[in-house]
Amino acid sequence: MADHQQHILLVGAGLAGSLLSVYLAQRGFAVDVFERRPDMRHARISAGRSINLALSTRGIHALREVGLSEQIMELAIPMRGRMMHAVDGTLTFQPYGRDEREVIYSVSRGELNRRLMDLADEHEHVHMHFRQRCEGMDFSMGAVQFTDEESGKPYSRSGDTVIATDGAGSPIRMAMQRKGRFNFSQEYLEHGYKELHIPPAGDGTHRLERNALHIWPRRSFMLIALPNPDGSFTCTLFLQHEGETSFASLHDAESVRIFFEREFPDVLPLMPTLIEDFEHNPTAPLGTVRCYPWHVGGMAALLGDAAHAIVPFYGQGMNCAFEDCTVLNEVIGEFGTDWDRVFHVYQERRKANADAIADLALENFIEMRDSVADERFLFQKQVGLACEERFPEYFIPKYSMVTFHRTPYAVALERGRIQQEILEQITAGCETLDAIDFSAAEELIHSRLRPYAEDAIDMN
Ligand SMILES: Cc1cc2nc3c(=O)[nH]c(=O)nc-3n(C[C@H](O)[C@H](O)[C@H](O)COP(=O)(O)OP(=O)(O)OC[C@H]3O[C@@H](n4cnc5c(N)ncnc54)[C@H](O)[C@@H]3O)c2cc1C
Repeated sequence: MADHQQHILLVGAGLAGSLLSVYLAQRGFAVDVFERRPDMRHARISAGRSINLALSTRGIHALREVGLSEQIMELAIPMRGRMMHAVDGTLTFQPYGRDEREVIYSVSRGELNRRLMDLADEHEHVHMHFRQRCEGMDFSMGAVQFTDEESGKPYSRSGDTVIATDGAGSPIRMAMQRKGRFNFSQEYLEHGYKELHIPPAGDGTHRLERNALHIWPRRSFMLIALPNPDGSFTCTLFLQHEGETSFASLHDAESVRIFFEREFPDVLPLMPTLIEDFEHNPTAPLGTVRCYPWHVGGMAALLGDAAHAIVPFYGQGMNCAFEDCTVLNEVIGEFGTDWDRVFHVYQERRKANADAIADLALENFIEMRDSVADERFLFQKQVGLACEERFPEYFIPKYSMVTFHRTPYAVALERGRIQQEILEQITAGCETLDAIDFSAAEELIHSRLRPYAEDAIDMN
């Protein structure tokens, strides 16, 4: 299968590009990776917009395939569930899964990216070129256009094929769009986000429960916090850009302080740099990008956020991008270097799933900022886990299918919708688990759902 003659250009050495370069190198291809930013391993720059991310099964599977999962898991902090903070300070913990194995992991975005780059560098046929900005692609020549950021000189490069891992604003995708007959949509949320910080306690420990993803759900907006290994938390405030309670209305130190005092009184004393962080950290937009097709013959293909940027509320953007790499690698295993066919099959296997996780992520925004504070919702979650325990061959909660399994996202979306209808029906008029008629539930589940194994690609 390995073909040393084949030379692949990757544009973008972010999370997906660095991982994909390793997959491709392991197949024996020569890979040149062009990245706009300086080498983050030498320059102490921020490795992206958020400094930690939730890593889960799909991402871990890909890291395992390239031999990096153990190293990364040593740096990762397990988060066993959501810790909800009410305005009056009441804490409610909602586990993500059935047991200690069903957890998600907080990892440093920068460290993960650096380790992937180090692994890529171990391969003699991978060459990374930093401070090289891609400007677009000429599909008549198959040439990618770059500017060397140091000298300012423009130049072009071509290879046997090109894979664009250049993120949500992909210049290669824009070139595909200009070529014509290319579907494209970009939808922004009314909400944006801003990162804030909770430093470690004096003794270096975490000031909030370490093994949880903290949420302050406030219906139309929310604050979340993920733990870092140094005892700090990275917080993200999701809030509307405009309106009565919005980033626009928080225009000075006083308005920010009053807002936090009113909405997040328990966390305010833990954020000594709140006002500076609020002023200095940018307010960034949130959006969904969908497009089709994802390739131009065998000449170029899109992967990761370049093909499907999603909102971050399911913690799946990177996990999905990593799964793209897993699937593309599988397809290369089946069809070799017939790139047109490889990209076509890869696109057919991924497009519906990328659309599904985009929808799931949008739905989860409402769940996180609103429903998690709702008793009915929490009860239905509990009943969902109880159904999984009793009928594991049929009923797997939607969150688990997305996060702890590698079931195609489109299947998780479809089964999740049916399961929600089942939950509505069996919890109607009930307030405790004891009140649920599980034999009626079993009948309903068997009549509405196929056995899970028929839909799932695998269970690890
Ligand atoms: C606030 C927030 C929180 C998130 N949390 C999670 C989470 O918890 N879990 C999760 O799985 N996902 C999360 N995501 C999503 C995740 O960050 C992305 O899905 C992931 O980074 C996609 O990887 P990528 O390599 O496709 O794109 P990117 O990581 O954006 O990498 C693209 C790379 O291309 C480079 N590049 C861009 N333009 C050019 C150019 N013109 N020339 C050369 N190089 C270029 C960039 O510098 C960058 O290195 C979150 C996203 C946001 C915004």
